[in-house]
Amino acid sequence: MNDPVLVINCGSSSIKYALIAADPDAPRLAGLAERLGGSDARLKGLDSRGEPFERALAGEDHVRALEAILDGLEGQRPGAVGHRIVHGGERFTRATLIDDAVVAAIEETAALAPLHNPANLQGVAATRQLFPELPQVAVFDTAFHQTLPPRAYRYALPEALYRDHGIRRYGFHGTSHAYVSTRADALSSLEGGGWLTAHLGNGCSTAAVRGGRSLDTSMGLTPLEGLVMGTRSGDVDPGLHSHLARRLGWPLERIDEVLNRGSGLLGLSGLTHDMRELEAAAEEGHAGAQLAIEVFCYRVAKSLAALSCALPRLDGIVFTGGIGENSPLVREKVVDHLPHFGLGLDRAANAATVRGREGRIDGRHPAAPRLWVIPTDEEGRIAEETRQLLGGTAP
Ligand code: AMP
Repeated sequence: MNDPVLVINCGSSSIKYALIAADPDAPRLAGLAERLGGSDARLKGLDSRGEPFERALAGEDHVRALEAILDGLEGQRPGAVGHRIVHGGERFTRATLIDDAVVAAIEETAALAPLHNPANLQGVAATRQLFPELPQVAVFDTAFHQTLPPRAYRYALPEALYRDHGIRRYGFHGTSHAYVSTRADALSSLEGGGWLTAHLGNGCSTAAVRGGRSLDTSMGLTPLEGLVMGTRSGDVDPGLHSHLARRLGWPLERIDEVLNRGSGLLGLSGLTHDMRELEAAAEEGHAGAQLAIEVFCYRVAKSLAALSCALPRLDGIVFTGGIGENSPLVREKVVDHLPHFGLGLDRAANAATVRGREGRIDGRHPAAPRLWVIPTDEEGRIAEETRQLLGGTAP
């Protein structure tokens, strides 16, 4: 299939899109329809000359927003649509052509991702209504981690909770970990070992990947487990919930809200969830910002050290995501916390590898694991998986 793929990432009040041609170097039309459902819905993005545009949306629902997105595609027609779907449960282990049965199965997994899957399905419904003739493909955030062995995905809970309710570790950010580990393999041509990948953005997760297979990852049943994130706590003592309920009388909704939206970098610093702002504040002596950065980096390193157990040998570490791609400070602190890995950071290369640059930032000692910064491309990966599925070859 040589036509462009329209990649859709649909939230409850937003649609992120990108039109991706078969030629990876062709310019991308991409943008965001936001505040859908409100009176100030807007569409903004970049046109084919890379010029930004922004305009008010006349209608405010998902179908109208998609119509406006289509109007903005400068006459190009997609040959297929690739949808980012957050949770595929155990059923979906790879990209899948969408039909009624697949929609019903995604609805069934909504219990595991009540905020995300129904919103993703709104995008599927709207695009099926608008382009009934086009093939639509679901690409799941969880699918890449379906290769985890039971020792990595099972919680030490009663078996019935797994068997009857699907309570296990699933992992997320799969398209990102898949993309950067595949790229690291292509850049390095090493054999036998594996990569630790660190996706550090507003959401953060690590993964251990060997030969294109995810062997362990830091997120679990939900995207709350694992690392410190922008506003999410990551790992806490599982006894915390009952402690807060008993001592402070907090209802579950409040605990959930605090752990998901009031914790992480924001909670620790008392200032902001944004790493760039935290770095500036820390530089000026803000103690909360300094602590937030310290905890964040230590927890990334601790998670990488833990996940290294999944690999027979460490080929290297890959940093990606808004923080991983742009913060030499965070990368340096993470590496400094792993002296026993024998890493050698090239500080000049580290400082220079920012703003979307791909680069190797280790000192190139032949025996040392490699350190890569690889800008992630989740949309590109979704388009590629969509294309490969429709072309009949496995991704
Ligand atoms: P993402 O969710 O991948 O878009 O990443 C968002 C995070 O990346 C936010 O915490 C930003 O502050 C952070 N980020 C972006 N640029 C920089 C930068 N130059 N230095 C530090 N953090 C950055």
